[in-house]
Amino acid sequence: MKQKMTSRRLALKQLASTAALGVLATLRCGPALAASIGKLYGTRIPGVQGKVISKQDSNYELWRQAMVWHKSKPKRYPELIVQAQSVEDVVAAVEYAAHNKLKVSMRAGGHNSTGTSVRHGGMVIDLSALRDVLIDTSKQIASIQPGVRSLQLTRAAEKQGLSFPVPHCPSVGVSGFALGGGIGLNYAQHGGMATHSIVGAEVVTAEGKLVTVNANENSDLFWAVRGAGPGFFGVVTRLHLQLYPLPKAIMTSSYIAPLDDLEMVTSNLEKIRKENDVSRVELLVVLTQHPEAPPEVPPEESKICFFIAFAYEDSVAEARALLEPFARSDLAVKSAVKNEFVEFSMEELHDKYFSLRDPAGRQGRYIVDNVLTNDGSGVLHALADHFRNKAPTKDCHILASYNMNMEHKADSCFSWVADSYVGCYAIWDKEEEDDINYDWLSNTLPLMDPFAIGHYPNEVEPRHTDRYRKCYSEEDWKRLAQLRNKYDPSGVFHQYLTQSEARGV
Ligand SMILES: Cc1cc2nc3c(=O)[nH]c(=O)nc-3n(C[C@H](O)[C@H](O)[C@H](O)COP(=O)(O)OP(=O)(O)OC[C@H]3O[C@@H](n4cnc5c(N)ncnc54)[C@H](O)[C@@H]3O)c2cc1C
Repeated sequence: MKQKMTSRRLALKQLASTAALGVLATLRCGPALAASIGKLYGTRIPGVQGKVISKQDSNYELWRQAMVWHKSKPKRYPELIVQAQSVEDVVAAVEYAAHNKLKVSMRAGGHNSTGTSVRHGGMVIDLSALRDVLIDTSKQIASIQPGVRSLQLTRAAEKQGLSFPVPHCPSVGVSGFALGGGIGLNYAQHGGMATHSIVGAEVVTAEGKLVTVNANENSDLFWAVRGAGPGFFGVVTRLHLQLYPLPKAIMTSSYIAPLDDLEMVTSNLEKIRKENDVSRVELLVVLTQHPEAPPEVPPEESKICFFIAFAYEDSVAEARALLEPFARSDLAVKSAVKNEFVEFSMEELHDKYFSLRDPAGRQGRYIVDNVLTNDGSGVLHALADHFRNKAPTKDCHILASYNMNMEHKADSCFSWVADSYVGCYAIWDKEEEDDINYDWLSNTLPLMDPFAIGHYPNEVEPRHTDRYRKCYSEEDWKRLAQLRNKYDPSGVFHQYLTQSEARGV
């Protein structure tokens, strides 16, 4: 037995490069299509300068599919797609939709896993062309339009010595991410969810009015903007985001062990957390298949547990000190592969850990669901066998983020307090494999839900019962409904995607 374990470790060592594994790219995406599609369209909407594509246009299907980054395009068909070129376009489009009883949905970065922007009937307002970023360095606030992607904000902030807990993958839309929660780079130091770093917004309401939203003006809409995600009842045309000083030293230590050693990994992790103050460190555990494992390697040898600690500090010495407890622990001794104290810039993190170049990071078919929990390790153990024995493809994986450091916020509708997020991801290529992947994901729910305090709205699978409702407390869910009635009494905006819409029935 001992010999078998040793050879498994050896095999893993041979598989792993000494550079960052890049395995998280499994979650990540491919190029945005929308911007590159040529001219078409015949429909006109008064006051709208941008393209308007109707169901009758010859290239409609190309446009419709381009609203969603991944390959499992929803079988939902809006009447119109409006590519807004300005805030005035958004106002005119909403007015037109309200007048013509077309329900409105919004698309920003297009990364939502269930393609929430693409609905039956109505109008999609595509905001991806609005990409302006303004940074007020004295106030440390970024004012961004909704088409801004993660990497763009990273770069703009970095130039001013600032940073934001942006989505890990460079091409994710910051607006959809932040409106629906947002677990970004350096989340541990910024309260777990980026939505709490929204300090204001400009919103086009159902009446077609552009209103300012912050803690003092339209404070109930401010509450809703901070977390309502794909159920928000307005078009956000600008977000004002609190920035933070750019960490001067970003350092990671990563460890790889066979999946069978999960207990070794989690018990060391818990011990380190108990005996040291590592609460500032972003800690991820990923159960995945080693991306370079040859197909003939059986799952028990190719499935791994990948642990990474990210320190974001003011000096290399401080970052190193924070990662020392991991290097001194049994984790460092017993892991098959370790790669410690590696320095990165913010932009390099996108590239090395969450890159689109990883073979697994291509645009596959994609579904995800999750729990927020105080027992991330318990969830990983509950899911380990299901992952090892049943995961239908090499790209399916489970990711746990620890040290969420979430706080209850009275001025945010997303207000869970949990230590960890655990997400289950199914990624595959062929339509005929849809059922097996949906089934695999569905079967994770009874395993992980008993650990749930709540769920993260950007990454739930609404095919499952009441998934969006369970992302909020009863009280907050009711208040959201009341505010929707107040701001959108005639239902101009689509609500959360329903189970039957998601299932395509
Ligand atoms: C490859 C990949 C990597 C990811 N990485 C992370 C990560 O690191 N951390 C994390 O927390 N999540 C991550 N996610 C999940 C991501 O946060 C969600 O998919 C989010 O919905 C993406 O936002 P978007 O603007 O790109 O998507 P869209 O599909 O364009 O938007 C989703 C929905 O948000 C609403 N919305 C968006 N913009 C506006 C607006 N301006 N006004 C009103 N409503 C709006 C709309 O209802 C819209 O349908 C990732 C997803 C993918 C696919």
